[in-house]
Amino acid sequence: MLELPEAEVLRRDLEREVVGKRVKDVVVETPSVLKPWHRTRPEFASLLEGRRIASVRRRGNVMLLELDEGLTWLVDPGVQGSLHLETASATLGTDAHVAASFATGGALHISETGREPTLRTGVVPSVDADDASGVSRDALDLLADTPTWIEFGRYLMANDEQLKLLLCDPKRFLGLGPVYSDEILWEAGLRHDRMSATLTPQEIRRFYRAAHEVLVAAMKASGSALEDAEPDTFTDEDGAAAGHLSVYGREGLACSRCRTPIQRTRIKRTMVTFHCPRCMG
Ligand SMILES: [Zn+2]
Repeated sequence: MLELPEAEVLRRDLEREVVGKRVKDVVVETPSVLKPWHRTRPEFASLLEGRRIASVRRRGNVMLLELDEGLTWLVDPGVQGSLHLETASATLGTDAHVAASFATGGALHISETGREPTLRTGVVPSVDADDASGVSRDALDLLADTPTWIEFGRYLMANDEQLKLLLCDPKRFLGLGPVYSDEILWEAGLRHDRMSATLTPQEIRRFYRAAHEVLVAAMKASGSALEDAEPDTFTDEDGAAAGHLSVYGREGLACSRCRTPIQRTRIKRTMVTFHCPRCMG
């Protein structure tokens, strides 16, 4: 999934590349990605065609492109959706589900590999956009929201849960998944199964600082979101973990802090955690 750092890089790239542009033509290859907002391709296309993109917001990993006429274009990348800038004449790739070309040239392609895309896109009235996005209003976005460490600590106390489960719960933290939850916990030196309400003030401060540092460093390590044709930025061609990661995908490799081999532990059917058994207390 697109996690917070990559989502914010994508938002900034979109802001730079598509704000001010007017949508000319819309092509929908896969009508199911328009659910639940639109029943038909023409309904979606007629709302989007002719609209000018005024700004790009983000909530978690959902992109909200503000249009004129009081409309918002939502793009929820789902599990593995991605957006790419192409020339207006570029043919749609086999994984492309929606494409919008611009009056001044160029086109935005929205793609996802796999038989059944999980990405969703639609145009809704701006006043309803936050609700329509399905993103929890109460969850913390650690790049967009700026709690103090004391507020962060209160949040951890009020949402007592194992740290890994808490970070990956989209009702509590937005845009954190398998990669950065592990990275933040390693940076903070905290075990994945520590209960959040048991952290000492010192550990809360460390956790708070680690979250910020890991997310900002990951944003710096990300390339252009719109031009990268490879949606999975976490492994290189050989499947090795990307250079900026400390634990994710590094099973058996030495922890860079204490040289102990990194372990991979399954904590539930759909979730594993990469961690150092020695220096994460
Ligand atoms: Zn270690």
